[in-house]
Amino acid sequence: MRMYDLLLKKRRGFELTAEEIDFFIKSYTKGEIPDYQASAFCMAVCYSGMTDAETSALTLSMAESGDTVDLKRFGDLTVDKHSTGGVGDKTSLIVCPIVASLGAKVAKMSGRGLGHTGGTVDKLEAIPGYKTSMSMDDFMNQVETVGLALIGQTGNLAPADKKLYALRDVTATVDSIPLITSSIMSKKIAAGSKNIVLDVKTGSGAFMKTIEDSRILAENMVNIGKKCGRNMTAVISDMDSPLGTNIGNSLEVIESVEILKGEKKGDLYDVCVVLATEMTALVLNCDHETAKKKVIDSIESGNAFRKMVEWVKAQGGDASFIENTGKFPKTSYSYEVKASKSGYLYSMNAEEIGKAACLLGAGRVTKDDVIDPSAGIVLCKKKGDAVKTGDTLAILYTNDESSIESASCSFTGAIKIEDKMPEMRPLIAGIIR
Ligand code: URA
Repeated sequence: MRMYDLLLKKRRGFELTAEEIDFFIKSYTKGEIPDYQASAFCMAVCYSGMTDAETSALTLSMAESGDTVDLKRFGDLTVDKHSTGGVGDKTSLIVCPIVASLGAKVAKMSGRGLGHTGGTVDKLEAIPGYKTSMSMDDFMNQVETVGLALIGQTGNLAPADKKLYALRDVTATVDSIPLITSSIMSKKIAAGSKNIVLDVKTGSGAFMKTIEDSRILAENMVNIGKKCGRNMTAVISDMDSPLGTNIGNSLEVIESVEILKGEKKGDLYDVCVVLATEMTALVLNCDHETAKKKVIDSIESGNAFRKMVEWVKAQGGDASFIENTGKFPKTSYSYEVKASKSGYLYSMNAEEIGKAACLLGAGRVTKDDVIDPSAGIVLCKKKGDAVKTGDTLAILYTNDESSIESASCSFTGAIKIEDKMPEMRPLIAGIIR
């Protein structure tokens, strides 16, 4: 088999066989196919798309390109969740302890943030002592005893995706639905959980800017997961504005604790209840009304919060920071962004606000940047709120005084204040089961 012939066949619009796709993935992972041919493959897929059979074959070959995690000893109780990424999206920190407190086994591997989106692993590293890597034996034992372990992705999980994703990032081939589907689902399949809930974000802060594209991506991922024998649900949730009020690593841990303690309601709480309900319904094989009741009880009884404390302790973290979030270090500088006129907060561009948080030190612009765990933004007003001239819209936190001017300019550029109330987008635009 020659990669040249496969490229020509794909370029001419013919369907590749599973054997041909597997040949490409195996040879590319081993370094036997050069990046320029892999780039040509990704570009051909961007133009010609892929059939369902091709996308399934690509997903499976990528999932099998490295280690796979065997979670069979936990039966059908294992559950994973994946968000396609957003700003202020700390849902994993909240839903994982909720479902673990209800008997699910969560063996989760998460990524770091890059660009305007945050990553769960960076958020957890804001907790002093929390270990984001451990041996596979320790990982399994913690899933057994605590019901929840959450670490960074191990080096050899879907290595084909790691190589291809880096290539797509520099060849303008990221936003192809079959390539995103196979990238995300190969990692989820390799990570081994029987039940998977996907949070497909839609809007200005998401990969998929329109609900239509988000729905196609969600349906594709659900279909592929089911073909691979997994129980699947995808929730399409809004990411046009940031989720919750806190953006930045320790700030997001603090907000997660507030939700788990039942102290805070709003969009973040609502999305977490929906995600945790879907996860619980799959794991316990119960109806959604029962699952939702269990989720809310878990928060209100304190069980979910206690599970978070148990999990953080088990993973070496100093749980006194969870019990008393006032212990998280404060930044040296804070700056209040004020409203320049009265009206309604009409729109908040999530991507631009995410970029403002990065400027303050909360995120990475390149892979090697070092994150400041305390930096970020707390929103004092959300989309649809009435504001008066001089009201504080947000507080910026940073240890780098020189970043304040550019971050506040970015923040101000990301919001609009108008005389009329904005039309509110649905928080949940669809659920695909
Ligand atoms: N997240 C991934 O893991 N892969 C993609 O292709 C896009 C988002």
